[in-house]
Amino acid sequence: MQAINNYINGTLLPPQKGNYLDLYDPSKGEVYAQVPNSDHTDVEKAVAAAQQAFPEWAATSVTERSRILTKIADLIEANLERLAIAESLDNGKPIWLAKKVDIPRASSNFRFFAQAITQFSTQAHEMSDAINYTLRQPLGVVGTISPWNLPLYLFTWKIAPALAAGNTVIAKPSEVTPMSAYLLSEICIEAGLPKGVLNIVHGDGIKVGAEMTKHPNIKAISFTGSTRVGAEIAKVAAPVFKKVSLEMGGKNPNIIFSDCNYEKMLDTTIRSSFANQGQICLCGSRILVEQSIYEQFKTDFIARTKALKVGHPSDDSVNLGAIVSKPHYEKVLSYIQLAQEEGGTILAGGNAVFPKGYEKGWYIAPTIIEGLAHNCRTNQEEIFGPVVTIMPFETEEEALLYANSTQYGLSSTIWTENLSRANRMAKQIHAGIVWINTWLLRDLRTPFGGVKNSGVGREGGVEALRFFTEPKNVCIQF
Ligand code: NAD
Repeated sequence: MQAINNYINGTLLPPQKGNYLDLYDPSKGEVYAQVPNSDHTDVEKAVAAAQQAFPEWAATSVTERSRILTKIADLIEANLERLAIAESLDNGKPIWLAKKVDIPRASSNFRFFAQAITQFSTQAHEMSDAINYTLRQPLGVVGTISPWNLPLYLFTWKIAPALAAGNTVIAKPSEVTPMSAYLLSEICIEAGLPKGVLNIVHGDGIKVGAEMTKHPNIKAISFTGSTRVGAEIAKVAAPVFKKVSLEMGGKNPNIIFSDCNYEKMLDTTIRSSFANQGQICLCGSRILVEQSIYEQFKTDFIARTKALKVGHPSDDSVNLGAIVSKPHYEKVLSYIQLAQEEGGTILAGGNAVFPKGYEKGWYIAPTIIEGLAHNCRTNQEEIFGPVVTIMPFETEEEALLYANSTQYGLSSTIWTENLSRANRMAKQIHAGIVWINTWLLRDLRTPFGGVKNSGVGREGGVEALRFFTEPKNVCIQF
């Protein structure tokens, strides 16, 4: 059985203590490979390599850093097929989706930051007898910790700006979906990334992630994952004043007014509910619909949901593949059970699916639940699967009350042709991202992140380059 390696100091290495975790193919519910379960000794080795590489990488010209990052972007593109298959095998997502979204975006992340760093400027503040200018210097060795839902997409979203800004990096992918990160290490070697500049340490959250968070020579942690783990990281980082960026959970509202472009809304709502098996932090899991179109929406949405095909990720005709892991599959099913205990009615799905030939895989039918109060657990807690609730509302105020009632504030979607109303709602919604008449339309220059328990700090564009640099003011009196 294949065992993947860490990438430390430019070399592919097994974990020093020889411990591994099983890696599952969720489409079959079977172990297919082994991933290092590294520990502090591997983290130490990676930090030492990154520290040694830092002065030279920080002094490398922006043009040269940009050239190497562009080369990595090119190689990701050239390996599209291979990376998409690996991503799907680990995660259960349809291969077509990984080919269309995950892998192209991973390449764009490198290409975008390779260009962005060449345009990154700093400020000057003039006084009558002096000039202040601000330097933006890399932090040193930084850590990135990422989740399983969009593995290479989110892994590279952090690494690319960190490297572009001149830092050296210790990166930990999710132990549930590490394969594409491993393939990226091969790509970095081929691209000629100097040794020690990027180090990828595989393993679980406690043995690797927590070690990184508390390591005194890792100057910042950029984390994407659950709110629970984000809180843990914040607690460990605070007393040592480590810089943190936390992108965490969501329970996003999708607010539909009767004056929306109905067909576009329906098409998009199907995607925003169930894309990637509903395992995107930006999925709209609470659908609020204006009373006057509620019944029509309900009928159409149920029909469209029931027409979705769940099946093996290699089948190009499936809409939904497998759920990422057995514990997560059980968690999602337990929330469907909870919704019924709370008085909800299942309008579509609500059950596990057993595709022929893949009966041991972890598949769940896209599920719609109705009849729940906005403040019940099903409507307050993140499920992170192909499960949405629908609820009617009468007024803007009522929609806002429901929308803002959770601990989360990541994204929101509003469907209306009335731009005054859209603007009014956008201002009042507790979320870092508001989409109006669209969903998941991304411009990599925009600030990305959440409010309340969904996030601290912002990623994207200049925000990411600022996070990965320290401003230093220099004042010269004439
Ligand atoms: P998770 O929090 O369980 O794990 C995320 C990463 O943290 C993994 O690499 C894990 O090994 C590591 N980790 C676990 N314990 C740790 C610890 N004590 N210290 C340091 N690292 C530790 O999340 P997950 O289950 O992999 O991903 C799903 C979650 O991610 C959902 O809550 C989802 O909303 C969130 N998410 C958020 C965004 C966003 O942009 N806000 C994007 C994608 C996913």
